[in-house]
Amino acid sequence: MRGGGHNVAGNGTVDDGLVLDLSRLNGVEVDAEARTVRVAAGATLAQVDRATEPANVAVPTGVVSNTGIAGLTLGGGVGWLTRAHGLTVDNLLSAEVVTVAGDTVTASEAENPDLFWGLRGGGGNFGVVTEFTFRAHPIPSLPLTGTFVYPAPLWASALAAYAAWTSDLPDELTSVLTFTVPPPIMGLGSDPLMLVGYAWASEDTASGAEVVDRLRRAAPPAVEAKEPVSWAAWQSSADAIFPRGSRGYWRNSSFDRLDPDVIAALIRRGTEQTWIGTGFDIHHLGGAFGRVPEDATPFPSRAARYWLNIYGFWAEPVDDIARKGFIRAFGDEVEPLGSGGRYLNFLGEEPEADPVQQAQQVYGVSKLERLAILKRDYDPQNLLRRNHNVRPAVPTGDTD
Ligand SMILES: Cc1cc2nc3c(=O)[nH]c(=O)nc-3n(C[C@H](O)[C@H](O)[C@H](O)COP(=O)(O)OP(=O)(O)OC[C@H]3O[C@@H](n4cnc5c(N)ncnc54)[C@H](O)[C@@H]3O)c2cc1C
Repeated sequence: MRGGGHNVAGNGTVDDGLVLDLSRLNGVEVDAEARTVRVAAGATLAQVDRATEPANVAVPTGVVSNTGIAGLTLGGGVGWLTRAHGLTVDNLLSAEVVTVAGDTVTASEAENPDLFWGLRGGGGNFGVVTEFTFRAHPIPSLPLTGTFVYPAPLWASALAAYAAWTSDLPDELTSVLTFTVPPPIMGLGSDPLMLVGYAWASEDTASGAEVVDRLRRAAPPAVEAKEPVSWAAWQSSADAIFPRGSRGYWRNSSFDRLDPDVIAALIRRGTEQTWIGTGFDIHHLGGAFGRVPEDATPFPSRAARYWLNIYGFWAEPVDDIARKGFIRAFGDEVEPLGSGGRYLNFLGEEPEADPVQQAQQVYGVSKLERLAILKRDYDPQNLLRRNHNVRPAVPTGDTD
């Protein structure tokens, strides 16, 4: 299946098998009064934001606007509203699904709740979603957003300040910390930088400004971008970093805290990364994300406070080995410091790896068992397998 075609495992496009391109099914309908949004499965995040903005509401999605809503939602959906309102899946009210048997079914808390559970993090394993209905949340027309920029000599003190700041923040504030060599279009030079982006999800911008000022005072940035922009503009502000059609390989880990070992690894890898073509983000979690009970969705590790995403976006095949090597070595180094679980949507393809073991690393054993039973019920022949695959549970004498 292909919606936005942004799958970092590269399987939105395949060499064999059938690809369903849903990108022309991209309508978005907003019910401003009910604060619900119906989204056809081929829409991008930009199409969702452009439709919701006039009603001063937003659906929590991701941070790069040409990503497809379908793949993003089915894996989880981490972005600028995660602490305020949870993941994209935490705001999913229902989905229309065409099953491999050819039936069209609704999945919601009231109808086919087992399928609804599986869709909220289990990926594209259970059928073709044609439409999502989301809960939307109020967002000011010019929300409080901005970015602090730190050159390498400030990283140690700024990271210590960031760890302290994020240990006690209101839910309205979500921040993402990024290490990257900025592309020329950003006009920030060619040295590796640490950026702290933030978004405050409330009309009470005075309180938000006070919260942001605590970090500004503790770790004064070298440069600061804080011009007010619309929500849709903010949502697309990172697009330039990721040219479409880039090559890629991604890894991720969750953490309970930014302890000195994690901070040392971030600084060392950030210093080594002197090229354009890889980057890594720390997403600050907790808040509404952390209040969703662990078993309510397949998404792993709700207790995690931070999620590290190490990503690639290089252009030339000749760089594959070096760029993947950097990401893989960094991922292997920090994994033992992590608190478990992997985020499906931030995972690259591992053709050599055992798919069952990979799925266990994402979900853990008990959630994977539940997903495998659902897969057996909805796709027993594993027709939908060009994805982060959940293998159908083997029927037992008792159950079949
Ligand atoms: C530049 C970039 C930035 C990103 N930023 C974020 C971010 O901020 N937050 C975040 O959470 N993730 C982010 N991601 C990860 C992204 O969520 C996943 O890569 C996701 O799979 C992309 O979905 P898509 O619809 O664009 O991709 P596609 O390649 O179209 O689809 C990906 C997979 O999703 C499944 N799928 C797609 N459509 C359907 C459907 N209609 N029915 C059933 N299954 C379907 C299929 O298994 C398909 O292989 C980013 C990825 C990239 C490349």
